[in-house]
Amino acid sequence: MANICIVCKKEVAPSGKALKIKEDRLIRSIRAIKNALHIAQNNKLFVCKDDLAEHNGRRKKFEKDSVVFGVAAVAIILVMVGLPLLGGNFSINIFLISILMGIIVFIFGAMFKYVPAVEGVREFNEVKGVKEAEKAKEAKAG
Ligand SMILES: [Zn+2]
Repeated sequence: MANICIVCKKEVAPSGKALKIKEDRLIRSIRAIKNALHIAQNNKLFVCKDDLAEHNGRRKKFEKDSVVFGVAAVAIILVMVGLPLLGGNFSINIFLISILMGIIVFIFGAMFKYVPAVEGVREFNEVKGVKEAEKAKEAKAG
């Protein structure tokens, strides 16, 4: 397990400054899928100080893109459900398949382009400090 910057993919030096990535539901799902496929590296994810501007730009773009994915997914559902309806026959199977396709388009689009949020944009955690804080937490829990 290593501390990896998600922008430059380099290991963050123990004394280096970096922002921790928020472990949100999508990150955990992607990790669960990777675990199932045995391709998980289980690295701790960071954005190093030098890459923060780059990361913020990507994050903004992703937020815009995710709206586009949502619209595309809804459009697919509407077309697939709407066309048979115009033809006068409604099938529950087509209805369900089209909803499933819309969801798949959204998830895949989001997964491949996903740019996670970072925790606390104002202050950089010293990676060493993060490790110590986690150790302290583990000690408390154990
Ligand atoms: Zn970096």
